[in-house]
Amino acid sequence: MSLVTHLGFPRIGLKRELKRALEAHWRDNAPVDALHEAARKLRARHWRLARDAGADVVPCNDFSLYDHVLDTAVLFDAIPDRYRPLFERSELDGYFAMARGHREGGHDLHALEMTKWFDTNYHYLVPELHAGQRFALAGDKPLAEFREAQALGHRARPVLLGPVSFLRLSKSVDGSNPLDLLDALLPAYAGLLRQLAEAGADWVQLDEPCLALDQDAGGHAAYRKAYAGLSGAGGPQILLASYFGALGDNLALAVGLPVHGLHVDLARAPHQLDAVLDVLPTDRVLSAGAVDGRNVWRSRPDKLLPLLRKVHARLGDERLWLAPSCSLLHVPIDLDAEVALPPERRASMAFAKQKLEELRAYADALAGHAAAEAVLHAQQAVLDGQAQQAGVRNPAVRARLDALSPQTALRRSAYATRRILQAEVLGLPPLPTTTIGSFPQTDDLRRARAAHRAGKLSDAAYQATLEAEVERVVRFQEAIGLDVLVHGEAERNDMVEYFGEQLDGYLFTRHGWVQSYGSRCVKPPVIWGDVARPAPMTVRWSTYAQSLTTRPMKGMLTGPVTLLQWSFVRDDLPRETVCRQIALALRDEVHDLEAAGIGVIQIDEPALREGLPLRRADWPAYLAWAVECFRIAAGGVRDATQIHTHMCYSEFNDIIEAVAAMDADVISIETSRSRMQLLDAFVRFRYPNGIGPGVYDIHSPCVPTQDEMLALLRRALDVLDAGQLWVNPDCGLKTRSWKETEPALRGMVACARQLRAGIAA
Ligand code: GLN
Ligand code: ZN
Repeated sequence: MSLVTHLGFPRIGLKRELKRALEAHWRDNAPVDALHEAARKLRARHWRLARDAGADVVPCNDFSLYDHVLDTAVLFDAIPDRYRPLFERSELDGYFAMARGHREGGHDLHALEMTKWFDTNYHYLVPELHAGQRFALAGDKPLAEFREAQALGHRARPVLLGPVSFLRLSKSVDGSNPLDLLDALLPAYAGLLRQLAEAGADWVQLDEPCLALDQDAGGHAAYRKAYAGLSGAGGPQILLASYFGALGDNLALAVGLPVHGLHVDLARAPHQLDAVLDVLPTDRVLSAGAVDGRNVWRSRPDKLLPLLRKVHARLGDERLWLAPSCSLLHVPIDLDAEVALPPERRASMAFAKQKLEELRAYADALAGHAAAEAVLHAQQAVLDGQAQQAGVRNPAVRARLDALSPQTALRRSAYATRRILQAEVLGLPPLPTTTIGSFPQTDDLRRARAAHRAGKLSDAAYQATLEAEVERVVRFQEAIGLDVLVHGEAERNDMVEYFGEQLDGYLFTRHGWVQSYGSRCVKPPVIWGDVARPAPMTVRWSTYAQSLTTRPMKGMLTGPVTLLQWSFVRDDLPRETVCRQIALALRDEVHDLEAAGIGVIQIDEPALREGLPLRRADWPAYLAWAVECFRIAAGGVRDATQIHTHMCYSEFNDIIEAVAAMDADVISIETSRSRMQLLDAFVRFRYPNGIGPGVYDIHSPCVPTQDEMLALLRRALDVLDAGQLWVNPDCGLKTRSWKETEPALRGMVACARQLRAGIAA
């Protein structure tokens, strides 16, 4: 029978036990043993859960106290010098210092950089390497966790991040090419593989997700060298795991490597199956990434079963394994915990555990078990029935989508015209000051929200609390002299959840946590049906805030791409179609805001860049629909209505054309950490519209000095037209305290005034 396995399991625990154990350790200095014990329990529970769900073999070393890339760096002793002394005192303290930074005796050890793990919402820590870097096998985590699984009676397969992906995901601090370090790194890997074999591991899984990325000749050579070296190392048989997309032009490379098994992603790239089967050497196992490890939907047996039967007929029991497409790290653990979801919604969903159960059913069906086939038939019937359920298709939404025309995505006039009208209507000074939207979320606010949710605070009392907060924020902004005000977003705890809760087609889980980084988790909303806006969502707050002041009040919306990107999205429609539905819902909100007298409206798109496909060749198509969706949301408003957007990152070089094509009247972006370097892109491209490059880093608790802010603004003025420049912080202030916010914003306004005086003179 085909073997059922998976590539990795969520670490955090159904009740986020790991988060609690970590935070207790960090905050309250809970003993190390308690942390290790919590981790051990989670591993044991998850192995068992996977086995009970039907996995024959479970991975081990997929667990991590913080991040698996950091684990790999520490395992092979790639520890930057600044952490060494700490490591020597305590390995765990050193490990957490690399992850989170460390402060000691006025000494600041900054953390490793953190960045997105491919196109997921998981973030990994970027190892720092340098030319001449040495590596050594410095730890025994994979071995220890293998023994732990063995002792519990599991057939376990250790998982390691493969050497080429490890190097490619690292950064060099001196401009050297990390791949040049392969020769130095391989002996450490080889030594570990030998130890695993001696301990009884028959297979090891080497994850090489970079095989789904564009590679140059150097990348190809690195793979060949690495696997030639490791296959002769006397280690276990190697399962080479690719995921997150098609192998594409790396297929010949991947099947040419001397390994024993190849995992391919058939959820994102089912079309690659024939090509893989055509070239797969006859001695090789194929691990079919059959069910989607990135979403929360049940698979469709009418599609998947015939596909698997075809592979099974070609490869037979021994050479075919069944697995999710990628690690289950990116989905919640157990749908059974979602007791509050309507049964008809639950019926079409699958979390990690249910995905393994599905794989079991497929394997059994391939082996001719009638009961398993019946289960899959029943699943298909449920899914077919789902399609007919109310809300999945909303005829009004479909009709609007059909009626979309290029006009929908247009403003009435070009920016040059709009700019003049907006200047007249808004009457702003040069270098206008504003903020990104949110103001500090105080403990009082959080308490009020929690009490309201729990039914302990009446609607009226909660609204009154929020109104008082809005008023306080407005008065504060007036008092310090900001030009374009915001209402402060006191009513939102999360910029996606707040809108999702008011839109048709979304649902929310109770325990659907997914690790974002370290102990941080997110609970992405689930888009299951056509998205529509039954009623205005923000108009009440914006108009209330505007009623308190004569200065322009900026309406505040989360953009369509971000609402899509930070949710689990239905799999029966193309993502771009779902995004257009969201865009239309937001468009209605924009028009309602405008009609209610809000003349400045910001549509945040912090996730636009992270939606970029992994392969360059796929970028233009994505950017085309992402930009179109933003423009649908903003389209059709009066010329005098000023549309802003905000993005939280600083890499614009390769997407600047698309950013310009969004045609927002004003964009605010992150720049202070990169010391305005990112403005290069805007200068090279001659970005014509308004720009607010953040003048201070809201992620830092330090209050910026006026000198720092002035220096940044002067730098911006060197390259931008004074008529283009806006003055604002980097991002929203919700995670800051009033104590920091007040002096920082006062200083910012003072800087703008000082420069204005200079410009006037
Ligand atoms: N308007 C949001 C805020 O100020 C924007 C946050 C973001 O872009 N991440 O909080
Ligand atoms: Zn931001």
